[in-house]
Amino acid sequence: MKMFARRFWECNGVEKNMIKSSFAIILLVLISASALYCNHSGESNQTATRSQMERKTDQAPPTPVPENPGPRYNLSAIQSERAYQWLKEIALFDQRWYGSPRRDQAIAKLKKSLSELCDSVVLDPFEATDRESKKTYKLNNIVAKINPDRPNRLLVGSHWDTRLWSDKDPNPKLRDKPIMGANDGTSGLAVIVEILKVLKEKPLALYGLDIVFFDGEDFGRANSRDFSRGAKHYAEHTLLNEAHKPKYGLVIDMVGDTDLNIQPEHQSKQAAPDLMQLIWNAAAGQSAAGFRSDAPLSIIDDHVPLIEAGVPTVLLLDFDYPYWHTQADTVDKVSPHSLEETGKVILQVLYQLDGGAL
Ligand SMILES: [Zn+2]
Repeated sequence: MKMFARRFWECNGVEKNMIKSSFAIILLVLISASALYCNHSGESNQTATRSQMERKTDQAPPTPVPENPGPRYNLSAIQSERAYQWLKEIALFDQRWYGSPRRDQAIAKLKKSLSELCDSVVLDPFEATDRESKKTYKLNNIVAKINPDRPNRLLVGSHWDTRLWSDKDPNPKLRDKPIMGANDGTSGLAVIVEILKVLKEKPLALYGLDIVFFDGEDFGRANSRDFSRGAKHYAEHTLLNEAHKPKYGLVIDMVGDTDLNIQPEHQSKQAAPDLMQLIWNAAAGQSAAGFRSDAPLSIIDDHVPLIEAGVPTVLLLDFDYPYWHTQADTVDKVSPHSLEETGKVILQVLYQLDGGAL
């Protein structure tokens, strides 16, 4: 993603652990793995990180193996412009960083969108303290359910907070300013809402859905492990006590870049190799070029607490985003086509899971 370094990577100031292993395509052949390290704080930008990773890639990229795409699942119901307009409405007018006076308004709008498409929506409040300012913020995950009584469940999540600091901005004078987060903090939400609009018309038959808009994903300072605060809270206080824990999880983040480049994520592959294969097969069947088959990256994001709570979860994230954690993460950097491409792949996967694919 472009944002690797950020939350994803738990860079501890010196190096970020990027494990590259070969992406097993056809059978279960795990060819090899190599460790890649990036210096977060020392990097001038993410491009450096990316090129570093590319240099370390010593294997030929695996070739996607298309799976019989089967029925089309009405994937064309995903509307790129509708998703993009929703994104603009949230990103342009709602200031979602911690402490913003418009946060309550943002929560109300997100709850409204979800309540129109889901059976229930509740807030999951918690507090988080910034290690530098010592300020404590009241944060809220937003949790919606579809068919809450069904024991068979899937979780789909994305973070709704935007970062309080643009600490990767090329201009040092701007690094203490909050970001709009059109891609980082809104694109995942837009894809999920668009999928829910399609599911409203053609719902899943077997599974219930847990939709979680996580707060506090971008709460961490560089060189800390303070990211994914909402996902950690949800994992510890809800998932571990859930009578019907989701069979799988999908976390979507930074999927709006014009040059979409979603690489397989290492921890996701370890936790849910079958789901990962299903996703990449669906992408190949749709000729979704934004789903790359390069060697996996290791990223710290909201999927990690879910995996640790026993829910095999895949992170879909494009870390190759040059505007990550800068003032330039604005709506003009987001492509409606990328939202559509991601949405169609996820929608097909949800229908396939509902049809017993795994
Ligand atoms: Zn971020």
